[in-house]
Amino acid sequence: MSAFDPDSLILPAGSNFIAGRRVAGVGAEIAVRRPSDGREYATLDSAGHAQVDEAVRDAQRAYKGSGWAKADPRQRMRVLRRWADLLDAHMEELAVLEAVGSTRTIAECKAWDISYAAECIRFYAEFADKVGGEVAATTPDKLGLTITEPYGVVAAVAPWNLPIVMAVWKIAPAVAAGNSIVLKPSEMTPFSIVRVAELAIEAGLPPGIFNIVQGDGRSVGDTLCRHPLVAKVTFTGSTRTGAAIMTACAETGPKPVTLELGGKSPQLVFADCPDLDKTAAIVARAITLNAGQVCVAGSRLIVQDSVADRVVDLITKRFQALHAAPTWDARSSLSPIISHPQLDRIAGIVGRTVAGGAQLVTGGGRAAGPQDGSYFQPTILAGLDGNAEAVREEIFGPVLTVQTFTDEEQAFMLANDTEYGLAAGVHTGDVARALRAVRGLEAGTVWVNRYGRSNDFMLPTGGFKRSGIGKDLGREAYMANLKVKTALVEF
Ligand code: NAD
Repeated sequence: MSAFDPDSLILPAGSNFIAGRRVAGVGAEIAVRRPSDGREYATLDSAGHAQVDEAVRDAQRAYKGSGWAKADPRQRMRVLRRWADLLDAHMEELAVLEAVGSTRTIAECKAWDISYAAECIRFYAEFADKVGGEVAATTPDKLGLTITEPYGVVAAVAPWNLPIVMAVWKIAPAVAAGNSIVLKPSEMTPFSIVRVAELAIEAGLPPGIFNIVQGDGRSVGDTLCRHPLVAKVTFTGSTRTGAAIMTACAETGPKPVTLELGGKSPQLVFADCPDLDKTAAIVARAITLNAGQVCVAGSRLIVQDSVADRVVDLITKRFQALHAAPTWDARSSLSPIISHPQLDRIAGIVGRTVAGGAQLVTGGGRAAGPQDGSYFQPTILAGLDGNAEAVREEIFGPVLTVQTFTDEEQAFMLANDTEYGLAAGVHTGDVARALRAVRGLEAGTVWVNRYGRSNDFMLPTGGFKRSGIGKDLGREAYMANLKVKTALVEF
C-alpha cells in the first residue's frame, strides 16, 4: 500500500545552498540510490572546492554583516519559531522528501521526524533570549562577569540515518546562539535538508546564516572542516570519521569539535522485571527501529540466565512479525539497510560470528523485499562470549547479540566490556538496582525501564569512551556553540 509514488517525485535543480538560494554544484556527480528498491533516483551535484570556500566566506559575511549575531535575541527567537511552524506546515512534503531516499518510513516521518525537528528548533529558539553569561562571586570592589559570544562560522557534518533530525540537532543550537553554519549532509541522503533550508529563508533567517555544501566526506567534508574561517566543527557519524575530523581540526586550528559517534549499547534485563512481555517489546524495538541504524541502537542483550530463554523467545516472536517493505509503503515495519555494501558488511559479521560458534536463533540473512532493495532479517545471535565480532563491532543493522549473567556484578561487567559508551538500558523492578545501574554503567545515557529518547530536549545526548566528545541537545549543545569571555572590572 503505497503512501506516495516514489517515481513521481521531481527534485529541484541545485542541491547546494549558498547565500539563501539553491546552487548547482560544479564538483563530482554522485549517483544517489533509494535503499528501498536500489534504484538510482537522482544525481548529486557535489560542491567544488571553490564552492566550499564560497559557502564558508558567505557564512562569515552573513555572521559579520547580517546583524543576526548582534540582533535583539528575541528577533532570533521569533525567526526560529516561524521556521519551526513552517516545518509543521510543510510536514507532508518534507516527510515524502525524507522517506523516499532514506531508511525512514513514511509513517515514521509523518508521525515523528518532521514534528520532532520542528520542536527541536522551537526548543533552541527559547534559549536565544534566556541564556547568557554569569556574574561571578568576587570582592565588593570588583565586578566579575562571563559573557557568551558566538564562534562565527560553525561547520556541521551529518550522517544518513535520520537526515533531517541529525542535521537539526546541529543547526538549531548553532544559529540560535548567533552563529552561522555550513552543513555537509551525507552524500547518501542529501536532498531533504535543502528544502528545510529554503523554509528558513522564508521564515526570515538572513541569507548565508545557513549554507549547505554537498558531496563526499573525504573531499568536500574534509575541505569544509579544514577551512581557515571555520571556527568550530560539530560532527555526527562513525568513530573512524570522527577521529579523521578531529585530526583535521587539530591541524588547522586547533578548533573545538563536538563528536557524536558510534555505539554498542547494552540492554540489561533482570529476572525481577514485573512484565517480561513489555520488556521484550522494548528490547526488540530498540534494535529494529530504523533496522538498527540508530547510534543508540540497543544491540547487546544482557539477560539474567533464569529468564533468558523466555525473553529471547518473546523477542524472537516480535522480530518475526516485522514486515520489510519500501519506506513509501504505509505498512512497512522494517526499514531497508542504507546500501548494499552496508548490507554485505552486516551479513559478513553475522556469518563470521555464526561460523565462530554462535547460535543463530532467528534471521541471519537478507529479508525478502523489492528486487534490489537492501533488507536484512532481524537477527538474534546467542551463546556468545565477549570476544565475538558481533559483540564488539558496531553493526548498524537489526542484529541483537545475547549474553547471560547470574548476578548484578557480572551484568554490569559485561555491559561495560566495550570500547563504546553511548547509551545503556536497564530493565528491573528493583529501584535500588536501577540506581546502581545509573551509577555503574559507563554510558552517556542510561535508560531505566524504557529505551530511547523522549521529546525532553533538556536531556543532552552524547557518548563516553569511543562514542564521542561533547553533547547534542540540552543546554549543553547551546553552550557548546558559544565562547565564554571573562571580564573583571575594578571600581
Ligand atoms: P560516516 O562517519 O561514514 O559519515 C558521516 C558523515 O561524515 C557523512 O556526511 C560523510 O560524508 C562525512 N565524512 C566521511 N569522511 C569524512 C572526512 N574525512 N571528513 C569530513 N567528513 C567526512 O557515518 P555514517 O555511516 O553516515 O553514519 C553512521 C554512523 O554515525 C554510525 O557509526 C552511528 O553510530 C553514528 N551516529 C552517531 C550518533 C550519535 O548521536 N552519537 C547519531 C547518529 C549516527
